[in-house]
Amino acid sequence: MDFSWTQEQLNYKSRIIDFAKEHLNESIVERDAKLQFSREAWQKCADFGIQGLASPLVYGGYKKEIDILTATLAMEGLGYGCKDNGLPFSLNAQMWTVQLPIAEFGTEAQKEKYLKKFTSGEWIGCHALTEKNAGSDVFAMETTAEKVDGGYLINGCKRLITLGPVADAALIFCVTNPKLGKWGISGFIIDKGSKGFTQGHNQAKMGLRTVPIGNLTFTDCFVPDENRLGAEGAGWSITTSSLEYDRGGILGSQLGAMERQLEDTIAFIKSRKQFGKSIGEFQSVSNRIANMKLRLETSRLLLYKVAWLKSIGQSAMMEAALLKLQLSESFIESSLDAIRSHGGTGYLTENEIERDLRDAVGGVIYAGTSDIQKNIIANLLGL
Ligand SMILES: Cc1cc2nc3c(=O)[nH]c(=O)nc-3n(C[C@H](O)[C@H](O)[C@H](O)COP(=O)(O)OP(=O)(O)OC[C@H]3O[C@@H](n4cnc5c(N)ncnc54)[C@H](O)[C@@H]3O)c2cc1C
Repeated sequence: MDFSWTQEQLNYKSRIIDFAKEHLNESIVERDAKLQFSREAWQKCADFGIQGLASPLVYGGYKKEIDILTATLAMEGLGYGCKDNGLPFSLNAQMWTVQLPIAEFGTEAQKEKYLKKFTSGEWIGCHALTEKNAGSDVFAMETTAEKVDGGYLINGCKRLITLGPVADAALIFCVTNPKLGKWGISGFIIDKGSKGFTQGHNQAKMGLRTVPIGNLTFTDCFVPDENRLGAEGAGWSITTSSLEYDRGGILGSQLGAMERQLEDTIAFIKSRKQFGKSIGEFQSVSNRIANMKLRLETSRLLLYKVAWLKSIGQSAMMEAALLKLQLSESFIESSLDAIRSHGGTGYLTENEIERDLRDAVGGVIYAGTSDIQKNIIANLLGL
């Protein structure tokens, strides 16, 4: 068993950390308060090559084939260096649930058109499954794509879509054959401005506030045959294939954030003095640090295992569910421990401690809630 990274991978991670610290941490408190997305930061990431980690070289990507191990480590570095958790979250959403499915299931023309634009930062993409009556029970979706001459007519509404309000193209999933259940779902790529396609406003939310989120509505929206992703009925295969990568990437960035949070908290409790000594000398405070470290390292092992399994082409259903559950719940617990350890300082927004807790809560909801992860785990154990 070998847990080491190559020097090349480690160098790349440190370059990303330096880049993120230098270019991505400006005015986050203000942007968080005003729900402001930074297209400029998005473009800087593309110019650095972040989005390229999820595209093959020929479409502007980082390597000949997508290298999930390097990408996972890189996203960890991004989460560590970038204090705006929203930016890595939204980048991961595009990279693993839009770019990757197009790279895996797309036609040559789709890859040529969309992957190059997403990789270069010219375009932003979103991934839309969730609806009013289809959240955890995602295949209860009601948005339909009815076959017509030369394409499909789409009707329905998707909600809670990350980057939905600013996306230049949306990968959406619709019912093409209601009799076939999950095998009757198909994916389509729809460009901004298509007739009958409306992008909703940016909805205010608790955390990840620098990322726009909103509804996508389709009213007799015509999409040509060439914009269907994969075969008719391949929707389920497309979404399940990307989910394991999505969990790896997004959670990689959260792991980086947890490491940064732990280091900041240790530095604070060493320097903060009460009762004539550093508060870190009080065992009730240092015990919290031990718990934060334990959560970080157990999450790390699960993350690297998922990345390794995907790198050798294996399924990681169980491991990805364990990872999602462990890491997202840990981030909440550790964010709360960080606030407690900082005392009143941690409670003030301007000190950038409490934001992690608000950002972490989304992690136990999106990409399958914690309850659903437990269901997957129990199910895979034969229950
Ligand atoms: C920040 C954020 C970003 C998101 N981005 C996207 C996106 O880009 N694209 C997209 O398509 N969606 C996105 N979503 C939506 C997300 O995937 C859904 O919110 C999630 O799947 C849960 O669905 P729901 O909100 O309808 O909750 P529900 O499914 O109604 O769940 C409500 C509660 O019931 C529990 N529950 C439901 N069913 C079961 C069950 N079988 N067993 C046990 N408990 C159950 C849930 O765990 C939860 O506690 C995003 C959500 C958030 C918060």
